[in-house]
Amino acid sequence: NKQVILKDYVRGFPKESDMIVTSSNLKLKLPEGSKGVLVKNLYLSCDPYMRTRMSYHDTSASYVDSFKPASPISGHGVSKVLESGDPNLKEGDLVWGMTGWEEYSILNATQGLFKIHHTDVPLSYYTGILGMPGMTAYAGFYELASPKKGEYVYVSAASGAVGQLVGQFAKLVGCYAVGSAGSKEKVDLLKDKFGFDDAFNYKEEPELDAALKRYFPEGIDIYFENVGGKMLDAVLLNLRDHARIPLCGMISQYNLEKPEGVHNLMQLILRNARMEGFVVGEYYHLYPKFLEFILPHIRQGNIQYVEDIAEGLESGPAALIGLFSGRNVGKQVVVVSRE
Ligand code: NDP
Repeated sequence: NKQVILKDYVRGFPKESDMIVTSSNLKLKLPEGSKGVLVKNLYLSCDPYMRTRMSYHDTSASYVDSFKPASPISGHGVSKVLESGDPNLKEGDLVWGMTGWEEYSILNATQGLFKIHHTDVPLSYYTGILGMPGMTAYAGFYELASPKKGEYVYVSAASGAVGQLVGQFAKLVGCYAVGSAGSKEKVDLLKDKFGFDDAFNYKEEPELDAALKRYFPEGIDIYFENVGGKMLDAVLLNLRDHARIPLCGMISQYNLEKPEGVHNLMQLILRNARMEGFVVGEYYHLYPKFLEFILPHIRQGNIQYVEDIAEGLESGPAALIGLFSGRNVGKQVVVVSRE
């Protein structure tokens, strides 16, 4: 059973060598009386929150536990059930949810697993548009931001798993959408594939405040926050009255020993604006409604979706740390096995 092991807790930027791919002997059999499942892992999801799990922290510092050094890491994935002690799941069922970064896993608890019913779309989509990141975009945009037609929407990390969807949701509502990303290739994708009205490379903007004033001369109604730090500070200077900022993530801060300060919070008061954090786990009750909404859009080609596929578990460590240098173009997936 090939596995990706975290060698030790990480400080600063993670490196490929912080993880190692090894093999262990796993008996491909559920322990007697188990209520869990034995699964074969097919697709693994690379997600920025996994960085916080690589550091030691007590549970108050994050909504997820630290990984255990010298043990396989875990994350969201798509898996096939080989044996089940849960009467609601049977051999051959496909599920998505938390699993190990390994070829086969014994999952002791099945509460967090979603059974996959729609297989006319690529299975890997359940790591992204049909899984946790898709739900994140949906909950953060529709539930927290309450978008209205004609509003000005700005999305950072806009070509990623969550951002590419938020921009397209904004266009479905009839908003004006601008995204930022870290390369020309990504900026082109935003405009040409995802239908953003405009897009820019934040790395080429020495003054983010000036860039935002150029792209939003009327100001911003909704900022979907994925990066934090200097970007958030610049956005705060460009809010319209009653602006909303769903705080989804702050990837620019995850590798810093000391997070950067935010200086312009006073603008929230002056603009009667609202900034609200959320964790997608609180919104999974909306998942059936979300599937009803998103599946027809995917089938009819109204929503575009770009994945960055890394082949084989061995490519996992590089794919995961690539999120923090922007190596991924679209949703980063690791294929362990296609069936
Ligand atoms: P992405 O697919 O967008 O991948 C991460 C991207 O972030 C990179 O490709 C890179 O793109 C960008 N990035 C990396 N470092 C920096 C930096 N220092 N400054 C600016 N941009 C950077 O990831 P996701 O779509 O999966 O996640 C996006 C955000 O959503 C993250 O902050 C994540 O933590 C958050 N999230 C929150 C959830 C919640 O429940 N609240 C659930 C899921 C995700 P580029 O080339 O553009 O720099």
